[in-house]
Amino acid sequence: MPNRKKKAVSISEIGEFGLIEHLARKVKLRNASSLKGIGDDAAVVSYGGKTIVLTTDLLIEGIHFNLVYAPLKHLGYKAAVVNLSDIYAMNAIPKQITVSIAISGKFSLNAVELFYEGINLACDRYNVDLIGGDTSSSITGLMVSITALGEAEKDQIVYRSNARKDDLICVSGDLGAAYMGLQLLEREKKIFEEDPGIQPDLSGNEYILGRQLKPEAREDIITWFREKKVKPTAMIDISDGLSSDLLHLCSASGVGCRIYQEKIPVDRATAAMAEEFRMDPLVPALNGGEDYELLFTVSLSHHEILTGNPQIHVIGHITDAGDGRNLITREGNAVELVAQGWNPLREEESV
Ligand code: ADP
Ligand code: MG
Repeated sequence: MPNRKKKAVSISEIGEFGLIEHLARKVKLRNASSLKGIGDDAAVVSYGGKTIVLTTDLLIEGIHFNLVYAPLKHLGYKAAVVNLSDIYAMNAIPKQITVSIAISGKFSLNAVELFYEGINLACDRYNVDLIGGDTSSSITGLMVSITALGEAEKDQIVYRSNARKDDLICVSGDLGAAYMGLQLLEREKKIFEEDPGIQPDLSGNEYILGRQLKPEAREDIITWFREKKVKPTAMIDISDGLSSDLLHLCSASGVGCRIYQEKIPVDRATAAMAEEFRMDPLVPALNGGEDYELLFTVSLSHHEILTGNPQIHVIGHITDAGDGRNLITREGNAVELVAQGWNPLREEESV
């Protein structure tokens, strides 16, 4: 008898996004109120004229954060903010969150309180209500799952999928700082572990450390869009790195892109730390992740308005899909963009 057993495909072969795509193929939407399911920064549902967007994220100790250097208050703040960022990425306004935690015996009441101080601070800062959650125990470490809900007029929602040829590609803020902050924290942790007599030297690196430990979501950009009556054609927040997230946007829109190395915004502190690590600053900017900046496309006619906002940088334009997805280097060479964003499933062993 031939062996009919299906060969097990390891998840590491297909990666996180391959897995999501694979699962999504078997999912169909049944309700007219489900406007958008899997495949964007947030799902979109509509009830009697009101459109609601919702997104959820799961953070696991040892995978997404390390309590050796991430203070619990910062962690609570960040856990909330990364969800709010996905709501803004739909051009919507976050209104509520739910917070679920699983904690092991090593956590004291004080530790959990600190975590919630961070959550409450984010709720204050972004005018969001904490409306529920769930609490459980875990065998090891801390797990956090946050769901955020937001609202927008139906015609104001911006998907990843509507970028068109010649649209301008823009990013807010600067890129790569959170990744360099993480590299610094990892380096100092290693030094400390090898010789506890040596105290971590983090002084003078407040910017990149802040970007890693206490990121902000770009509410200001969404407010500015409203004030200026600018509606991007497509948008995504940069959580996995510019390359990876721009490729998501291009795939969802069925287009190509051309971005220019010299236009990619990198803060001086990020570039200096990259140099200390003998790294080209382009690497954290393209592949670092956790920037929580907005990557969006707008029609060419908005060019002049955009130049009025110093927080927005035009880094390239959308092309036909057939022209590929390219980065033009300072020397003028075209290099194909590849997704090297953070992928938790890439190197795991299959089970
Ligand atoms: P983001 O980085 O913006 O949070 P993700 O890459 O996590 O987005 O998710 C991309 C899309 O896949 C989203 O629509 C999300 O809801 C969906 N998704 C992710 N994991 C799962 C899953 N296990 N089951 C169903 N949908 C999922
Ligand atoms: Mg996102």
